[in-house]
Amino acid sequence: MSTAALRAGALRAPLGRLHEVADGVHAFLQPPGGWCLSNAGAIVGPDGPVLVDTAATRSRAEALRAAAEGLGRGPVRTVINTHSHGDHVFGNCVFDPSATIIAHELTGPEMTAVGMGLQSLWPDVEWGELTLRPPTVTFARSMTLLLGDRPVELHHVGPAHSTGDVVVWVPDARVLFTGDVALPGCTPFCLMGSVRGSLAALDRLRAFGAETVVGGHGEVSGPEVFDETERYLRRILDLARDGVAAGISPLQTARSHGLGDFGGLLDPERLVGNLHRAYLEIERPELPLGAEMDVPGVFGEMVEFNGGRLPDCLA
Ligand SMILES: [Zn+2]
Repeated sequence: MSTAALRAGALRAPLGRLHEVADGVHAFLQPPGGWCLSNAGAIVGPDGPVLVDTAATRSRAEALRAAAEGLGRGPVRTVINTHSHGDHVFGNCVFDPSATIIAHELTGPEMTAVGMGLQSLWPDVEWGELTLRPPTVTFARSMTLLLGDRPVELHHVGPAHSTGDVVVWVPDARVLFTGDVALPGCTPFCLMGSVRGSLAALDRLRAFGAETVVGGHGEVSGPEVFDETERYLRRILDLARDGVAAGISPLQTARSHGLGDFGGLLDPERLVGNLHRAYLEIERPELPLGAEMDVPGVFGEMVEFNGGRLPDCLA
């Protein structure tokens, strides 16, 4: 085994598993979260489990499929993607080709544009054999799935973490799957979405009245994660306003102010990406929220902020 493989093996988090958070509603958690260790969900219905997201690597997606099918309701016929990022959609391809994949209408085009690009950030990860499987059913604002007599609501709340962010609300269980709009224990990340849009999305998320929140990464939480996320994002806006006024770059602002109270969150280098997005929203208010940015260039600055490399990806 190569040194790289040994190193990668030593740094891999265990495969995720299901935790029942309400009757028939399961969270597939991949602690500790962080880069590419994404959560997923399985909601039991009469026609099999309906999944929320599908994990980053082949082995993780296969573990999710096995766990969901282990619920005893047959194979997975329906998958919801909360957004286009590879750690939430790469696993789509392990499900039967006849499975329906539902997402916001921006998700498919974004997946196709970015392709498997995420893999190049962490070449040591054992991604396994993966092919891109875009959505087969899309919507613009919201849709409701009826799992027997249980409604499951899908709502577009982007641009927030990305442009096509969808949250999944199970009203009778008061469970909300937020995708990456909420990341308990991890640093929020709006580089590919919007800071102001994220704040608006948090208000919408609060209005559901969820008791249980399954974020896109990290532990299961309650609605307090919305307040913590808002506190982080308001600091980003404050720092960006000061940085713009002082004429210094997002990276310089990040270096001079540091992580503040948020040094305990995973993936703190996202500070630089979040500041870039906030600067754009302050300096170019005429642009639509979620407008395209030089994402690879900003990742380069996040690497610089983090001392020359991204943190290890444990997927
Ligand atoms: Zn994401």
